[in-house]
Amino acid sequence: MIITDYRIRATAAGGLLRAVAVQTTEAARTAQEVHRAWPVAAAALGRLVSTAAILGADFKQDQARITVEVSGDGPLGRIVAETRPDGSLRARIEHSDVDLPLNQVGKLAVGQAVGRQGFFRVLRQDHAGEWYQSQVELQTGEIGDDFLHYLAQSEQIPSAVSVGVLVDEKGLIIGCGGVMAQALPGCPTDIVDQVAGQFDHLAHISRRLADGETLEALIGKLLPEPIRWYEKEPLQWQCWCGRCNIQATLGTLPESDIDDLIGDGGAEVTCHFCRQAYHFSVDDLKTLADLKSH
Ligand SMILES: [Zn+2]
Repeated sequence: MIITDYRIRATAAGGLLRAVAVQTTEAARTAQEVHRAWPVAAAALGRLVSTAAILGADFKQDQARITVEVSGDGPLGRIVAETRPDGSLRARIEHSDVDLPLNQVGKLAVGQAVGRQGFFRVLRQDHAGEWYQSQVELQTGEIGDDFLHYLAQSEQIPSAVSVGVLVDEKGLIIGCGGVMAQALPGCPTDIVDQVAGQFDHLAHISRRLADGETLEALIGKLLPEPIRWYEKEPLQWQCWCGRCNIQATLGTLPESDIDDLIGDGGAEVTCHFCRQAYHFSVDDLKTLADLKSH
């Protein structure tokens, strides 16, 4: 079976209810592989990738990138997931080799690994490169709870969110995804309550996705009929670093730093998102230094 990552949006109750669901199993698996992430780190990465993919359903015309960042006081350090309007996803983690025992309910201890003190941030970059940031304090570090708190505080829309990652007995990701439902102003409270009740049945979203359940089936259980469906959008793990971008970043270093790299006989720069290494020879660096001095 070929599993392809995608996102789907739907509305109900005459447009007053909306839902976004994402399947990100492949992207999360790649993130786990690229970062050689241990299970609890992979779960945190997968949940954050799903969060970014959900936020990506609401790209505004002038936006080029959405970044979601979790910085807690736990052993994983800073975790970042990013998405672009074309559905590309990438993620990085400070410490991927964290091992913790399962928590009291027998699940990967993501909250403990992320930490409960810290911030959940969403940054949106426009096409001119300007960043707009909003952040909330972490609630539990479980990422889903923190995302929900962010939606309530920053966007002030009553929402329900579930993001989940399932790993097999070897600790490898076999299911990853998320779903968000929101009630827009004017939505009758009995319908909101009904959706909130249905949400409890979606607690094991990653298990459902691993078992082959579709996002459409998930949303179908959540929203009342009739449901209006929007087109499926493909999602994929794809880094957009490229040599040109890395070179541009090198170009922002002070001249003295570039001189030091020339003295070192060249530089190797590794992308933190995809771990691709880029080599810059002494000649490359001299050209860069020349460009800076002119
Ligand atoms: Zn990269």
